[in-house]
Amino acid sequence: MRVLITGAAGFLGSHLCDRFIDDGHSVVGMDNLVTGSPDNVAHLIGHERFRFVDHDVTEFVYVEGELDGVLHLASPASPADYLELPIKTLKVGSLGTHKVLGVAKAKGARFLLASTSEVYGDPQVNPQPESYWGHVNPIGPRGVYDEAKRFAEAMAMAYQRTHGVDARIARIFNTYGPRMRPNDGRVISNFIVQALRGQPITVYGDGSQTRSFCYVDDLIEGLYRLFGSDVSGPVNLGNPSEYTIAELAEIVREETGSDSEIEHLPLPEDDPQVRRPDIGRARSELGWEPGVSFRDGLRRTIEYFRTLQEEEGLGEPPVLAEERPGA
Ligand code: NAD
Ligand code: UDP
Repeated sequence: MRVLITGAAGFLGSHLCDRFIDDGHSVVGMDNLVTGSPDNVAHLIGHERFRFVDHDVTEFVYVEGELDGVLHLASPASPADYLELPIKTLKVGSLGTHKVLGVAKAKGARFLLASTSEVYGDPQVNPQPESYWGHVNPIGPRGVYDEAKRFAEAMAMAYQRTHGVDARIARIFNTYGPRMRPNDGRVISNFIVQALRGQPITVYGDGSQTRSFCYVDDLIEGLYRLFGSDVSGPVNLGNPSEYTIAELAEIVREETGSDSEIEHLPLPEDDPQVRRPDIGRARSELGWEPGVSFRDGLRRTIEYFRTLQEEEGLGEPPVLAEERPGA
């Protein structure tokens, strides 16, 4: 197969490129590097089956030659990023999704959208099944991301119904692992980096809010299977083991051997109180479930950040919610 992967220089996009290349396929990786890094795909540059194109997918997208698949991962994904880039986030979810669906239609390629658990907003049911319509504040700060992704899902379904584009929708829950940016502001990277530096671990609110964390290798396997399947309609991909953020802070302290203090900062507006995927559909339709335990995945991620710290340093301190625009 020959596939286009947008967001190829990002955390998940770069791992997905690796997966397609390792399986013998050809990949055109497209990215404008707004939140990604060329370092993530440096090892693929020069590979005969990989080509990198520096391009903003909100502008007309041209790809020469045939394509069997278009996998659309381009979008800021960390709250710190999308709150700093609200209009770019809305544009890539709407205009960008429209452009790449146009490419899929023109090439007769299968389309996969990297959607998100954020389409459920601050959910009033836990765990969240795909049938749940969500509880999103469209005019709140997070609305720029949530609504862009909801629009993207609607656009993918419209192209499927109207133009017969074969569309897959992955609703991805919090995923972590190597190649996350040390200062991307997400909770796992923030806590590990703070622990490794001996700085206070910043828990927002009282830490009773929950998240369910999936290791990157598991998530990529799920995306790959979903792309290869005949399941149309959304599929949740995530790890159902759920932790409070306060528990997470303790686990990170333990696993890093750090004596960092816990510091409580204000809870950001509209921060979801709970989040946990119902992965019944992925289990039955894809035969997929996560295999990496949270402690194992965390150890691998800590190892990654430790090596980064030794080799090139961890760069700027983590971005905190109180430093975000509008805070
Ligand atoms: P990331 O920020 O590391 O990667 C996103 C990539 O998209 C970056 O390389 C960025 O430069 C690129 N990009 C953004 N706008 C672009 C544009 N207009 N044109 C071209 N490239 C553009 O984030 P990630 O964690 O790898 O997320 C990848 C996708 O998965 C996103 O669509 C995100 O919404 C979705 N997702 C991720 C998670 C997660 O936990 N990581 C959870 C839910 C959904
Ligand atoms: N969080 C935190 N401290 C941090 C970063 C995040 O307590 O330094 C909390 C945040 O308020 C949220 C959870 O951790 O409740 C997950 O945040 P993240 O930014 O990783 O992603 P989200 O799941 O909110 O999109």
